[in-house]
Amino acid sequence: MADRDRRIAPAVVQVRGARVHNLKNVSVDIPLGRLVGIAGVSGSGKSSLALGTLYAEGSRRYLDALSTYTRRRIGQTARATVDEVLHVPAALALRQRPGIPGVHSTFGTSTELLNYLRLMFSRLGSHQCPHCGAHVPPSMDVALMVPTTCLECGEEFFGPGAEDLAFNSGGACPTCGGTGIVRTVDESTLVPDESKTIDEGAVLPWGSLMWDLMKQVCGAMGVRTNVPFCELTPEERDIVFHGPAEKKHILYHAKKGDNFAELDFTYYNAVYTVENALAKAKDEKGLARVARFLREDTCPDCGGTRLSERARGPVIDGMNLGDAAHMTLDELAAWAPTVPDLMPEYMREMAKSIVGETAEPISRLQQLGLGYLALDRASSTLSTGERQRVQLARAVRNRTCGVLYVLDEPSIGLHPANVEGLLGVMDDLLDDGNSVVVVDHDVRVLRHADHLVEMGPGSGAAGGSVIAQGSVAEVAASPASRIGPFLSGEAQVRVRNRCASDEVFSAGAIHLETGAIHTVRPLGVDIPRGRLTAVTGVSGSGKTTLVLESLVPGVAAFASGGAIPAHVLDVRADGIRRVNLIDATPIGANVRSTVGTYSGVLDDLRRAFARLTESKKRGLKAGDFSYNTGSLRCPTCDGTGQISLDVQFLPDVDIPCPDCNGTRYGRDAYGVRRPVEHAAARDGEADAVVGTEAFGCGGGTFASSAAVAAGAPDASGGFDEDISLPELLALTVDQARGKVSGLRKVEDKLGILHDLGLGYLTLGEATPALSGGEAQRLKLASELTRNQADALFVFDEPTIGLHPLDVEVLLRVLQRLIDNGATVVVIEHDLDMICNADYVIDMGPGGGEDGGRVVCAGTPEEVAACEASVTGRFIAEELA
Ligand code: ADP
Ligand code: ADP
Ligand code: ZN
Ligand code: ZN
Repeated sequence: MADRDRRIAPAVVQVRGARVHNLKNVSVDIPLGRLVGIAGVSGSGKSSLALGTLYAEGSRRYLDALSTYTRRRIGQTARATVDEVLHVPAALALRQRPGIPGVHSTFGTSTELLNYLRLMFSRLGSHQCPHCGAHVPPSMDVALMVPTTCLECGEEFFGPGAEDLAFNSGGACPTCGGTGIVRTVDESTLVPDESKTIDEGAVLPWGSLMWDLMKQVCGAMGVRTNVPFCELTPEERDIVFHGPAEKKHILYHAKKGDNFAELDFTYYNAVYTVENALAKAKDEKGLARVARFLREDTCPDCGGTRLSERARGPVIDGMNLGDAAHMTLDELAAWAPTVPDLMPEYMREMAKSIVGETAEPISRLQQLGLGYLALDRASSTLSTGERQRVQLARAVRNRTCGVLYVLDEPSIGLHPANVEGLLGVMDDLLDDGNSVVVVDHDVRVLRHADHLVEMGPGSGAAGGSVIAQGSVAEVAASPASRIGPFLSGEAQVRVRNRCASDEVFSAGAIHLETGAIHTVRPLGVDIPRGRLTAVTGVSGSGKTTLVLESLVPGVAAFASGGAIPAHVLDVRADGIRRVNLIDATPIGANVRSTVGTYSGVLDDLRRAFARLTESKKRGLKAGDFSYNTGSLRCPTCDGTGQISLDVQFLPDVDIPCPDCNGTRYGRDAYGVRRPVEHAAARDGEADAVVGTEAFGCGGGTFASSAAVAAGAPDASGGFDEDISLPELLALTVDQARGKVSGLRKVEDKLGILHDLGLGYLTLGEATPALSGGEAQRLKLASELTRNQADALFVFDEPTIGLHPLDVEVLLRVLQRLIDNGATVVVIEHDLDMICNADYVIDMGPGGGEDGGRVVCAGTPEEVAACEASVTGRFIAEELA
């Protein structure tokens, strides 16, 4: 006994020999019970260590303890490539991209706050007597769920329990099934082209959702099916849309041969055809086929509250549960503490204890900057950052102990003003006895860590090592550290020469006027052409609404002459012909999309290989070199590079194809080889692209440190005699640059990928596996080869996943767009990015009802000087 008491818990997780992805045999100790920050440039191996190794091992052990059944349902985690991970506790990861929530998920359900509200209304509300309809004031009987007697009619009844108030079970509105939305047939979509006859397929749902012979039945109903639909009489039209379900005797002519059959067939009018298909739709695919004929409206019976009439019965302070759930968190925080005083004296203590339970979770969510959200807000309309913070708040609520939390960039979407709240939540997790490992770039998050591990020095093959570790002060002082200068405040990302205030609009403006939408007020804004504009503001202030819901569709409509969204009152964007929204959503859903195909490099390479004498001799065309369809692809895996193993009792496991080793090509492809010339001569030229060109309004040079050119073109490759296509695709972008001499287009495209800081990616790498930031930059790469003078580029938080040094690379690319005449707008929280902008439009001042206005607009200095701007305060600090 005594021995066991004296045994001390291990203080560190010992990782030994980790080789996940690019990790180079990494051995590192991660202190337990501490906040550990993992830093490093993009692609250096942070996620490979935090998620691929620590979390993978921690969760695998956790899963081993679960039943086989549960494990199968969660999905198998592969064993990490690591010699040993000792003392790793059960791990939970809060991912950058939480899954898409279902129709029954709201901010209230996902935060569990709705449970407390239901409890409040079921116990503390005045109830309606089901016999005479009289309101019975709050009473202990109801609160204790025993029968109560109606003072009006004298009958006994039970108040509804908390379950009866739940829209995802007993309290669901029967009309909409607790979704708050009803889908009705949109009749205007059923016959989109009235110049067609019914025989020609004018009535779309009969063609796509029903048997074709409904046309014939319709004819038997007395409708002319061989005249254009627009010529039908109102009576005929009515039969098409709403005709009765009569049985008709028709002669059915089979398509093939001379077979006729006599059939009795019930007429399904066009509207019913859609309703019937909707009722029968079983999966996403089925729903998608019907969706084009439907319109979504707020449920008329529950008014969108999702609640049945009975569930809306209990009332507190004149409000029912639906009304209360419609309040924002901030309003709820103010209202809830007043509830006990509304109760009869003898119920106050109980009311206080019920209401008291809500205080902590509400204030936590407020700390995380989510106070502007209403509990009834559908989770599917929340942004990624908002959903992630809900997850985080919930983790704290669960009051676990001894768990290792791995957080992947929790500062996404977080205004500088809310970073403090985030740090507070992480501290709470630690106080409960957990460990927290956080991958982030925000120096304020990193400075808060007890211990830092910095990966690097470069990306991909040029990274994968621990280059510095220790306390913040130790890493800041370490000469090997690349984040150090930013931690100490010695280095700042300042790579542009910004415009002077009076020059901002010298190249013209995009003018936008919008009406009220969501909580955003009517606005008029001018966005300078040919400049970098940052739209800033706390979460919920209206940035997304302004940029993604108004500016992008408005300018797109202006450029194409299409329909302008209803809430956009005016838009003038002379000279703008294209809008490019470059977001961080993953590229491609299957393994067939690779860096090589997406960037267009593979197309050029296929043609180049087809031009070789050896190809001509073998009769190989460019198409033969495609790993998707070509004759040279690996027959075993069909060019996917992997095969699925069907392991009994376990989910299928994908493994690299044993025949081609994941290269996707068969043996023959290696026989066609292209000469490689010495590449060393080009190294200098390649780096010059990001070196010392003049940038910005008045011209100038980059002021800060060199680019993340950790993977400069590989000079050693010059001694190879020749190379095959599969070998080329196995190289990184930077390595391949030295092996494609004479292929101008390929060199250009690879050069752009390098400039974007993507030189470490392998050409054959599947794009769905890329991180959000990598995907965003790869999308941008394909844009950089086009004309940009007539384009508006819009980025939603482009700094996600970017180290300050990566931000410099990105800024250089944006500068290149601007130099070519493009107009660039970014939604941003990153102060480095904001301080490099020519123009800042600050939304706010708060979130939700407290926001939705332009607080101020101007150069960073002008916004810094604005008293009313929260963002301005942080810009001022940063510029100081
Ligand atoms: P970071 O988190 O620092 O941005 P990662 O750990 O995601 O870096 O990536 C490190 C290296 O491992 C990169 O070269 C990346 O392309 C590679 N990598 C990441 N995920 C995978 C994967 N699923 N398969 C193969 N390589 C990967
Ligand atoms: P930001 O991008 O600055 O975080 P948003 O433009 O997303 O702000 O949101 C502005 C306001 O509009 C917030 O109060 C938000 O809750 C509300 N809002 C945004 N999208 C929707 C939606 N689909 N339904 C209801 N309210 C919304
Ligand atoms: Zn309803
Ligand atoms: Zn294969």
